[in-house]
Amino acid sequence: MRSKATTCAALAAALLLTGPPAVAAAGAPAPGAPGIGDPLWPTAGNGGYRVERQRLSFAFAPDLTSYTATSRLNLRATQSLSRFDLDLLGPQVRSVAVDGKPADWRTTPDGELVITPARPVRDGARFSVAVTVFNTAPDLLENPPQKPEDLVNGLWRAGDFVQLHTQPTGARRVLAVSDHPSAKTPTTIDVTTSGKATSVANGRLVATATVGDRTTRVFDEPRPIATELLQVGVGPITVTPRRGPDGVDLRYALPSDKSAEILPRLDETYRTALDFLGQRLGPFPGRIAGAYATPSGGATETQGLTWLNSDQLTPEKFDETGADSVIAHELAHEWFGNSVSLAKWGDLWLSEGHAVFYEWLWNEAKQRNTVDTAAQSAYRSHRSWIEENGPIAAPDPASFGPGDNRPFGSGAYQGGALTLYALRQQVGAETFQRIERAWVAENHDKVAGTGQFIATASRVASQDLGPFLRSWLYASGTLPPMPGHPDWQVDPAS
Ligand SMILES: [Zn+2]
Repeated sequence: MRSKATTCAALAAALLLTGPPAVAAAGAPAPGAPGIGDPLWPTAGNGGYRVERQRLSFAFAPDLTSYTATSRLNLRATQSLSRFDLDLLGPQVRSVAVDGKPADWRTTPDGELVITPARPVRDGARFSVAVTVFNTAPDLLENPPQKPEDLVNGLWRAGDFVQLHTQPTGARRVLAVSDHPSAKTPTTIDVTTSGKATSVANGRLVATATVGDRTTRVFDEPRPIATELLQVGVGPITVTPRRGPDGVDLRYALPSDKSAEILPRLDETYRTALDFLGQRLGPFPGRIAGAYATPSGGATETQGLTWLNSDQLTPEKFDETGADSVIAHELAHEWFGNSVSLAKWGDLWLSEGHAVFYEWLWNEAKQRNTVDTAAQSAYRSHRSWIEENGPIAAPDPASFGPGDNRPFGSGAYQGGALTLYALRQQVGAETFQRIERAWVAENHDKVAGTGQFIATASRVASQDLGPFLRSWLYASGTLPPMPGHPDWQVDPAS
């Protein structure tokens, strides 16, 4: 047994060697930064803490015209905090508490909820914040936006259906969160609705409770999920679970009146696309996949629950609308964008470029356009979109106008896919696919950016691909000649 004196002497020696404890070294409490410093969305995300887990609770009015939402976030301070921010733009704040005690708060016009706890939070401390908001959900079909840019992202109600379209920074318009992909975190969502409306959300349904007319469903996603990939659906929907390939559970949340006609082709396409992508990229990154389809749906890779348009999935419309290509694209995002999330929004090409590239491969396998044809077409038009939005991996924030969609433009989609095609031309298909598999395996459920992709590609290919990839990703006028296709033409910028 060691003596007490020896222990104290050892402790004193250790303190002399290492200096004072971290809390003193970190200095006086100071405000956390209002954003993570993303050039495209400067106030998205927040500084001074990490998000370790969150629970998002929605309670909808019986007629779905409004809701209250409570965000409970478990945080860990990365500095001593006198105050800190969440992101919130629009909903009315009803209450804010830090570690269970009411906290002072104010909102700013640029979407910050500034929270001052009763006592400062010390560096390294774990703490919790709970914010309840109220918001209306006007029917977008009855009140369509006058101009496209008036349609802001967030919670959309269309007729009997509620859906989330939060990409890229619309989650802050729904409830209080740290609204940047780099803040992704395991998330539990519970949804309370009335009457016959059914709800669905990211993650697995783990509990259902009914009290009178009100039903609460609890969904849990133990994997980190970015706020841009949240999905909460409410409406007259039927949820059909299926056993998918390789132990992946599938579930399809479809309008009840169309579920029977949509389900067979949708399920078959999901299985085929999951096999197709899995053969090229390795195992599906999660344990659950599926779709939430609504009549007003778009096509968004909300994690484990792709948001689709049900009108495009009917037997009459499926082929005409190219629904299988859309599904292949959105499922590719489960590897690129969902599992491997963006470090900054300028890295969007890593998400959309990959999704488009695998969509090209899918179409080629379906005997449609070849990948060469798709790449040649994108290459031909590149001067126009580089002139419009800037380089592929460094889009110009000012070029996207006042809407909510920067930096979603052709540079990320076509330019990203073209860069990947050029890389495959440069290193060969076999090495390219090894790079892809290494990228998704090493960054599974993490956050990674352009520099890391260049490093991974160079390491796997055993050559410095930095100059080559940067000549594509940061070209501000004309892209380099395509390896293997020096004859490819380029149209002038229009
Ligand atoms: Zn996409």
